[in-house]
Amino acid sequence: MAEVTWQEIAPGVFVRRHVELELNCGLVVGEGRALVVDTRGTEERGEELLAAVREVTTLEPVVVNTHAHYDHCFGNAAFRDSQIYAHTRAADDLRATAEHQREQVVAHFHATERPHLAAQLLATQIVVPHYLVEEDTQIDLGGRSVHLLYGGPAHTDHDLAVAVPDAGVVFWGDVIEQGADPAMEDSFPLAWAATLHALLARPQVKDAPIAVPGHGDVVDRDFVVEQAGRLGMLADTLAEAVAGRVRDVDQLVSTCRGLGLQDATLRHAAMRVLETTDR
Ligand SMILES: [Zn+2]
Repeated sequence: MAEVTWQEIAPGVFVRRHVELELNCGLVVGEGRALVVDTRGTEERGEELLAAVREVTTLEPVVVNTHAHYDHCFGNAAFRDSQIYAHTRAADDLRATAEHQREQVVAHFHATERPHLAAQLLATQIVVPHYLVEEDTQIDLGGRSVHLLYGGPAHTDHDLAVAVPDAGVVFWGDVIEQGADPAMEDSFPLAWAATLHALLARPQVKDAPIAVPGHGDVVDRDFVVEQAGRLGMLADTLAEAVAGRVRDVDQLVSTCRGLGLQDATLRHAAMRVLETTDR
């Protein structure tokens, strides 16, 4: 198993990629404080992340959760003394879904014979973010600023992207994924591409060459533009089929084949669109 270490992708901007789910956490070091992007999936893993942060900097950490999926925020308990930022709806979502998420992931850990992770997850205290934003928000780290950006519904209805303009870096959360399809289970497939384009046009994003996806390899702006294009084609194809009275998931999936997305991804996307469509 490869050793998990921070990779410095720009001056004072680090990515730590984890084996489980190839999850990326970020660290942006200012002169007064340091921002941690996402906290991993259990309290114990959050503590391990905090220890790794401490190897880089002794500055006070500030945290942002890109969204309320467990792998990005169940480690918050390790950062309970810090300011933890998220979108208002991320906090609502976490309150509403944390126990259901825990149940599902515990079952998954048992099914994949990882009882120690199931135990970790059961022992994890849920800490809901309490510095809540609904629109673009600047955080001063001393000598540099980071920007929390909300572009609209995408992977969830509350994704925040985190831009570090002085370093040309954007942490995208799961709005961008590398190595796997974008995850559609809680998504807004008809809006996702438009949200991405809105974010790509933001002044803090438009000149940033480095893109950190929620999972997978660090990529570049071209990768983000390409993923936005693919999601745009998906949205157009789904919208057209639904306008043509198609209401069958299998039929929607077969209509969307050829876009370079897995059938399972298309199935979730189709179901999400039908949930919000008049029958
Ligand atoms: Zn997610």
